[in-house]
Amino acid sequence: MQNLETIDPQALFGHIYTNAPIGIALISLDRKWIHVNPAVCRIFGYTEEEFMHFTIEDIRHPDDGGNASGLLTELWEGVIPSFESENRYLNKDGDIVWTSVHVSLVRDENDGKPLYYICQFIDVTKNKLAEMKLQESIERYTSLKKYNHDAIISFGLDGVMINGNSMAQQMTGYLIEELIGSQISKLIGDKNAARLLLALNHHADIERVEKDISFIRHKDGHSVEVLVTLAPIIIQNQTMGFYIIAKDMTEQKKLIIEKEAAEKTNKAKSDFLAMMSHEIRTPMNGVIGMTDVLLETKLDEEQMEYVQIIKKSGDTLLAIINDILDFSKIESGKTELMEEPLNVRAVLSETLYLVMSKALEKNLEITTSVDPKVPNLVQGDVTKLRQVLLNLLSNAIKFTPNGAISIVVETVSQEMNTVRLQFAIRDTGIGVPKDQVSQLFEPFYQVDHFMTRKTEGTGLGLAICKKLVELMDGQIWHEAPEDQTGSTFLFTASFRVQSSDSESCDSWPELDGSFENSTEPSLKILIAEDNEVNQVVLKKMIEKLGHKTTLVQNGQEAVEAVKRYPYDIIFMDIQMPGMDGLEATKRIHETLADKKKPCIVAVTAHAMKGDCEKYLAEGMDAYVSKPISIDAISAILEGLGRT
Ligand code: ADP
Repeated sequence: MQNLETIDPQALFGHIYTNAPIGIALISLDRKWIHVNPAVCRIFGYTEEEFMHFTIEDIRHPDDGGNASGLLTELWEGVIPSFESENRYLNKDGDIVWTSVHVSLVRDENDGKPLYYICQFIDVTKNKLAEMKLQESIERYTSLKKYNHDAIISFGLDGVMINGNSMAQQMTGYLIEELIGSQISKLIGDKNAARLLLALNHHADIERVEKDISFIRHKDGHSVEVLVTLAPIIIQNQTMGFYIIAKDMTEQKKLIIEKEAAEKTNKAKSDFLAMMSHEIRTPMNGVIGMTDVLLETKLDEEQMEYVQIIKKSGDTLLAIINDILDFSKIESGKTELMEEPLNVRAVLSETLYLVMSKALEKNLEITTSVDPKVPNLVQGDVTKLRQVLLNLLSNAIKFTPNGAISIVVETVSQEMNTVRLQFAIRDTGIGVPKDQVSQLFEPFYQVDHFMTRKTEGTGLGLAICKKLVELMDGQIWHEAPEDQTGSTFLFTASFRVQSSDSESCDSWPELDGSFENSTEPSLKILIAEDNEVNQVVLKKMIEKLGHKTTLVQNGQEAVEAVKRYPYDIIFMDIQMPGMDGLEATKRIHETLADKKKPCIVAVTAHAMKGDCEKYLAEGMDAYVSKPISIDAISAILEGLGRT
């Protein structure tokens, strides 16, 4: 190493002064430039010569005047040897130059009198602009509405916090000013901070770190449970730092615990109800069974009336218990879905059969339409599908004083092994007020219709439907028809299909119970019936089976009709005004040759023992009793060899 004594200090300091990247200037006590090094000229854009014509105050930014006056006084009084401040100046082009200025005062060696200042300027404009952009971006980010409830804290790659929003203040208990400049470890702990910085600086797995940071330390020492997201702060394509976005999970945690507790209680309640209903059902069966037996014994009129009331009440009670049992069984997760061959059309017709008599009682027209694309055979739970349909249909009938009910089945989607069907049950009834629709599927909810008695039903039907439909991977909802009064209840359900089963009934004509699309040549059927509703029911059913119908109102018209047209079958009502069914049958036999004679099916409400024989003896070929089901008609046509 060279000996320092051999170096000329003046030459050395001259070299440093001339070549230093830092601007060094000698400034007189009245702020004039005495001497500047080349770096000062570079920073401010003036030549050495030009500097001599103005003072340092002349190029200072107007807003920064007097920034350091306090420090200057202390310097003069000898309290401090030097100070640093950040100042803005205007360069020769009028642009702002940010500088960090170090100021010291040179005094006379003998009397200590101040002689001049030495100012050292570092140009920090670039850093300052980047910092300003950073702040601007942070402010923009933290003011985003969606983060209103989250604490956002920005920090550099060195872990020093830059800024935070008001939620950060609230969550940590620190003022933003207290956070700025301190290490992020203050909030997330040393271990997590070390992991975080390591990950951020080495582009490691940020998601892991996000998960690790599950607490923020509050100023008062307690921990706030948080969910953390990290987002990079990118300025001019460079990652300058990160945002830590912390969501306070305290409330959510509380809610989750409460929800779990509620679910447990609910399950316990359902278990209890399921057990109770089961226990009550057994003795109820005894009560109802014995009432039936009692009804078969010799009773006087008064006794009969009382026993019938007992029976009716027993039936109602049993229905309620069954509903509760069903509901609580599903609730407690004890209901399993069966997988068995399910013929959609057959399930529909069976269900219709069950409700048809009630619909007929109220003179309601029922129509069904099954889209040809609906596969005939799927795999699913027959009982549960029937239960949902039965419930919705019964409600439709219950809440429809007059008009019609329609059932439409369509395929919503079909993938490899699954078909999703939609069932829509529409009625023209009293409808559901808009504000009550959302509660319809709640257990025990009954709309307070002023027209209906509130006591009818349990209010569990729709809640059960909802649970069953959900079991079948579907949804249920209510729609109010736009153009008319009434309700439409829709539900979807998914069923498994084997590839060979997935064909629609277009290519499956031989299947039982299909309402439509039979490829058999259609029959010409005459319906002789005076009751309008029965006419419609019969007509629709026969047409669903793919045959053509003609309607007449009484026996006389039937006799006339068969003379004009060779019908294959007549569905003949027995009781009709004018000429009744029996008389008409007799006339037809008398007037037509055997070959041309249609088959005659008696349609009657008198399903008493011996009726069948009587009608057959009177020349009829078959008989069907009301309420008529589509299956019964189908069976009759089959029996007559006419399907
Ligand atoms: P329940 O019929 O046993 O009372 P539900 O759960 O089946 O119970 O139905 C709940 C309520 O929803 C009914 O009481 C009735 O107020 C209303 N509701 C259901 N279906 C219909 C409908 N088709 N038209 C009008 N209101 C209906």
